[in-house]
Amino acid sequence: MAFELPALPYAQDALEPHITANTLSFHHGKHHNAYVTNLNNMLGDAAGNSEADLIKVMNDSAGDASKAGIFNNSAQIWNHTFYWHSMKPNGGGAPTGDLAAKIDATFGSLDKFKEEFKAACIGQFGSGWAWLVVEGGDLKIVKTLNADCPLVHGQTPLMTCDVWEHAYYLDFQNRRPDYAQTFLDSLVNWDFAAANLAKA
Ligand code: MN
Repeated sequence: MAFELPALPYAQDALEPHITANTLSFHHGKHHNAYVTNLNNMLGDAAGNSEADLIKVMNDSAGDASKAGIFNNSAQIWNHTFYWHSMKPNGGGAPTGDLAAKIDATFGSLDKFKEEFKAACIGQFGSGWAWLVVEGGDLKIVKTLNADCPLVHGQTPLMTCDVWEHAYYLDFQNRRPDYAQTFLDSLVNWDFAAANLAKA
């Protein structure tokens, strides 16, 4: 079986007014879907259809210039699915438990974390992603260019913000800082990040 486009974990209009159904219809229905179509065209049905299969394709193609297309499309499938789950309706607020304690210990406070994460979103030149990850037991904020994914660098992602222009241009035009602030204040799914930390 070939890879399939994973469903959004909420309705297309569930993140309004922050991210509109119009944006999600293009971002999920066109952009995310195109990565699935492209990868299936490159690999055929034998490549698999599960998340584990997808991660294997990513790892097997990472760093291999002759497989850049396979890596870019497989990583973008994984990155986008992870991004949808990194947000939720009525998100934002504050994390709790172990994640809250680790954020305070690492960054000083939630507000300091948000400043640093927003700076990573703004500071990624061109297309890419900002991530909260765990590496060697430590929380880190990292940026990746284009399709690159922390999973292939030995890091465990907790949550991510897509900073490709297609993620925000219809709702925020060029105002990436406002999109990043909205992501942190009103959309980020701390429960998802905490669950990923618990598994790390
Ligand atoms: Mn995207």
